[in-house]
Amino acid sequence: MAANVNQPSNKFLIQILVGIALGLLLGGFLPSAGNGIAFIGELFIRALLMLVVPLVVTSMVVGMTSLGDVRQIGRLGGKTIFYYLTTTAIAVIIGLALVTLLQPGYAETEAQRIALRGGEQLDVPYQIENNTLTLTEGSFARTYDDRYTDFSLDSASGVRGTIDPSRGQSSNRLSVEAWTDGRGIPVIPPESGIGVRVDLGLAARLEGKDRSIWEVLQEVAIGLVPRNLFASMANNEVLPLIVISIIFGGVLTTMGSRGRLLMRSFEALNEAIMAMVNLLMLAAPVGIGALIAGRLGAAGGFVGFLPELIRVSKYTGTVILALAIHGCIILPIILYIFGKQSVKPYAAGMAPALTTAFSTSSSSATLPVTMECVTEKNFISERTASFVLPLGATINMDGTALYEAVAAVFIAQIYGIELSFVQMTIVFLTSTLAAIGAAGIPEAGLVTMAIVLRAVDLPIEGISLILIVDWFLDRCRTTVNVWGDAIGAAVVDWTAKKD
Ligand code: ASP
Repeated sequence: MAANVNQPSNKFLIQILVGIALGLLLGGFLPSAGNGIAFIGELFIRALLMLVVPLVVTSMVVGMTSLGDVRQIGRLGGKTIFYYLTTTAIAVIIGLALVTLLQPGYAETEAQRIALRGGEQLDVPYQIENNTLTLTEGSFARTYDDRYTDFSLDSASGVRGTIDPSRGQSSNRLSVEAWTDGRGIPVIPPESGIGVRVDLGLAARLEGKDRSIWEVLQEVAIGLVPRNLFASMANNEVLPLIVISIIFGGVLTTMGSRGRLLMRSFEALNEAIMAMVNLLMLAAPVGIGALIAGRLGAAGGFVGFLPELIRVSKYTGTVILALAIHGCIILPIILYIFGKQSVKPYAAGMAPALTTAFSTSSSSATLPVTMECVTEKNFISERTASFVLPLGATINMDGTALYEAVAAVFIAQIYGIELSFVQMTIVFLTSTLAAIGAAGIPEAGLVTMAIVLRAVDLPIEGISLILIVDWFLDRCRTTVNVWGDAIGAAVVDWTAKKD
């Protein structure tokens, strides 16, 4: 409506592309100017997030009441979950196939391996006696950037090492735990026998989040029922709102005329919220541009960021290629065959949502725009969209699952660890499930990746190898996540119509 009432959508698209281009140029060449306008992007994200809760609640209640037959929700739910699981599994398979084929983490020499790991090897000798590791020198030096912090190495301040006897003393798989301020992460010294790398920033991120896949799935299940509805709203938790809205909408349909009164109010509320989303879309080109300029500025512009990107270019290339195959070939085929939609116009209609996903790196923050594009530009019924999209924004993450699988195998390759077929199968399963457990917020996938690594006994510390480019890959995978949700809406809508 509003965003494209007065202007043809082509013009709107061009405005967004100009916003992106300006954001790239500004953040890339003038990082401080990019930082300076980051607050405009923050305003845009906040405005989007502000609309998520009212939009999810009103649209789901309206969707529920318009279904007529409450049993239909079961059928709709079944199809949606089936689509989500199948496409996520396909995405992971593509990722695994490519990372195995291209071997981005393969290094022939130790020097290459150290270069891949970041090249900031610390030169701290260690001794091993009676299965106890002692670091034999004063303290870690500060490395090339401030991700690493100085800390003392004496045992009182807490550097501890243990040897896993099953791995043998001579193996390279010695695991060491370094502790500072009560935070700890396992680290693995390099093969050469000197040097231990500790990324405390990573330790802080993973603190308290190191859970098994079973615990994560339990959390998702428990999270369906809110302890306090308003707390869920305050925290933008979409899953419990979906459940409560379905029940509430269902109950309204059984209340006769008094229920109808409320239904009509919800319809009007829903319309009002959608109109606000439309209004906000007018600011999208500026908001998206500012977000990109701000993030690129924070990464030090092209000068700061490109060398890092090039260092792990094989890895980023593999992730991006796999995402492209899934997003540009597999999902469009599914859209065409099972959603009966032509791909080009559907993608053009989704462009504002896809670019918002790229700039915010959050499926949840993008949800209002996704809803708008799916229903108003691609004419998918609101009934389907209101159910499929909020669910998708929280549990359907093709890009995230693919990324976690590629990253886990990449880390294994860098550490020279061969994964057996069974381990690859575990990576496949845990990546699929960990993506379901990841929230639709920036870099959520990085945290749930610890689950995948843990499941196949890979060093969690390996995450620090890919940390520096994660913000960029997060944007790419979030775009694919949202694209997958949008295609899901078309597919489920078509099958519902057929029924
Ligand atoms: N940022 C992603 C999303 O919101 C999740 C992730 O970190 O992969 O979809």
